[in-house]
Amino acid sequence: MTYDHIMVRFGELSTKGKNKKDFIRVLAKNIKNALSDFSNLTIETRFDHIYVVLNGNNPDDVLDVLQDVSGIHSLSLVYKTEPDIENLKKVCLELIKQEEGQTFKIKAKRADKSYPIISEDIIRHVAGVILSNTNLKVDVHNPDILLSIEIRQEGAYVFCKTIPACGGYPLGVGGKIMHMLSGGIDSPVAGYLLMRRGIKIECIHFASPPYTNVGVIEKLKDLLRKLNKYQPEIRLNIIPFTKLQEEIYHHCDESYAITIMRRMMFRLADRLARRRKCPAISSGESVGQVASQTLESMYTINEVTSLPVLRPVVAMDKVDIIKLARKIDTYDISIRPFEDCCTIFDPKNPKTKPSLEKAKEFEQMFDFESLIQEALDNVEVIYIKKEDSLL
Ligand code: ATP
Ligand code: MG
Repeated sequence: MTYDHIMVRFGELSTKGKNKKDFIRVLAKNIKNALSDFSNLTIETRFDHIYVVLNGNNPDDVLDVLQDVSGIHSLSLVYKTEPDIENLKKVCLELIKQEEGQTFKIKAKRADKSYPIISEDIIRHVAGVILSNTNLKVDVHNPDILLSIEIRQEGAYVFCKTIPACGGYPLGVGGKIMHMLSGGIDSPVAGYLLMRRGIKIECIHFASPPYTNVGVIEKLKDLLRKLNKYQPEIRLNIIPFTKLQEEIYHHCDESYAITIMRRMMFRLADRLARRRKCPAISSGESVGQVASQTLESMYTINEVTSLPVLRPVVAMDKVDIIKLARKIDTYDISIRPFEDCCTIFDPKNPKTKPSLEKAKEFEQMFDFESLIQEALDNVEVIYIKKEDSLL
């Protein structure tokens, strides 16, 4: 007897009504996209579950893909059958014989209240037939096999295993954010964590040719191809940053160069976010890692934008960020030795507590506004798509 459906659970939603409907609709669409390489699968959306009808596809392959779809809390391979009790007894006996173990427990849920037999009686009937036809024993506390039966209007579902999935929210229900993507380890991980919360990312990168070479862009594309697993299409905006950077180093004290450079980055991210209808900005900043990531620095840098700035890895240890980078397979790409615009102009003594007033004073030395406008006018846009990464 082969399982023919996968039951997709999204856990107890705190959202109700229209939000819940949106959640399920978006999740069903994302599941469909994620499974687009399989032929013949059907997706059925019900009130509190989504079902993937396997139609002969290999269940393990499908489960593998589903385990990474945001918003899915757990999955079960299920057998759909007629709810008639005699049939249920037969099916449950067959299915439990395929399992390994000496002890079992049965759980029954009667979601369809018009079903004539109450849950306790369903359990009694099915347990009886298992006890008299196998050597299995009942163990209600620590069973080897937990056989679950769910009676719903459209039929009965029987399953023995529940596999945890990644949780979170379906991509897209949280809107879109302007994410600052460098070629480093932290920002791809930060982007991934946002996607897990249902937020789509659009990326902004500050490029400083010829100080940074074109290899950096290839590196970013490779990173985003990895993230395509979670978001099938990502827009990358490349901002020409060289002129601004040169002017900063020309006019500002070296100890303030990083602070002012980052203020310019946030100004650009703010403008582009508004233009692209993103209500927030995000970055891979982690507190304490470098001079520009002290609280005082963040205060002085953040002052240029009134948009919320989300920093998903802000309080994570580097070892934990690296673990996640390995999990999502971006680590080996991130450590490729390409120069970043921050590493090129690395000052010897950057201020760890830059004052806002001083930063503003230095900025008055040059016309950064027109340089910001020029950079925005010359943004280069690339779309990185899932289909391209398969080529
Ligand atoms: P990462 O590993 O993400 O590069 P980092 O530890 O090297 O981070 P910084 O170089 O100070 O730290 O950068 C902090 C954050 O600022 C990055 O995570 C990224 O979000 C943003 N950032 C830095 N450089 C760039 C860049 N050239 N383009 C876009 N964003 C950048
Ligand atoms: Mg970096």
